[in-house]
Amino acid sequence: MKICRFNDNRLGVARDDRIYDVTDALDVLPALRYPAPTYDVLIANLDAVRTRIEALLPAATSVPVDSVTFLSPVANPGKIVAAPVNYTKHLEEARADAEIHHQNAIQEIQRIGLFLKATSSLVGVSAGVDLEHPNRRNDHEAEVVAVIGKQGRNIPAADALSYVAGYSIGLDMTTRGPEERSMRKSIDSYSVVGPWLVTSDELSDPSALDFELTVNGEPRQKANTRDLILGIPEIIEYASSFYTLHPGDIIFTGTPEGVGPVVGGDTIHVTMQGIGRISVAVRSPKA
Ligand code: MN
Repeated sequence: MKICRFNDNRLGVARDDRIYDVTDALDVLPALRYPAPTYDVLIANLDAVRTRIEALLPAATSVPVDSVTFLSPVANPGKIVAAPVNYTKHLEEARADAEIHHQNAIQEIQRIGLFLKATSSLVGVSAGVDLEHPNRRNDHEAEVVAVIGKQGRNIPAADALSYVAGYSIGLDMTTRGPEERSMRKSIDSYSVVGPWLVTSDELSDPSALDFELTVNGEPRQKANTRDLILGIPEIIEYASSFYTLHPGDIIFTGTPEGVGPVVGGDTIHVTMQGIGRISVAVRSPKA
């Protein structure tokens, strides 16, 4: 099932180029009192939500997929985990290009581990990217995104995919420069996720997904997840050996070679096998 959030916090199901409005399924979620949980309540209750969605779908109204505003499919992730340099050819291009590495030693992921992006940087695909620091290089990074479905710590790789609620397309937007990744990749709107969550029963094997990114129609990145250095199960094993993963935690799995700059006015398209296609506008800072 392809589950999305759209327009004014509506809940939808994508099917046959239409979005079916199943917002009433949110009624199964528990009423919240302060303090709110530090995980995503919808993802934590996804099975119950899906049961209600199935009941609502036959009578649900629908609109064309191109007519809606997509919000992030996960509203309240507790954290956004990201894998740096997780494709060998991207490691090679990063080490070769001073505009990418900025005298930072580009180390193998097995040595430097994972990093975190601020949850305040998260937007849906329709929001677009608002560039900051336009005098600096701002790059696109197309990535497969996995969303954690249940709490886990020290998850073995062999069991890891059973902890995944589903998958989405991600843009790990990046300002190049000398600062820590967690700063350069946490600017507002620099974590784009969408258009929807493809539940893991529909996409059971994320280990061989083709995907490609274009800017204004020009091909930039083209890869397959079989070339990941740490596959998705290994990333989950690694991350959960340092911290508990919670429902709704978002994992950016790393970008392949072909990263490059974007400027205001550009449009980024990403197509990903088994998930779909996103179109993301890039804007210059407001004067
Ligand atoms: Mn990245």
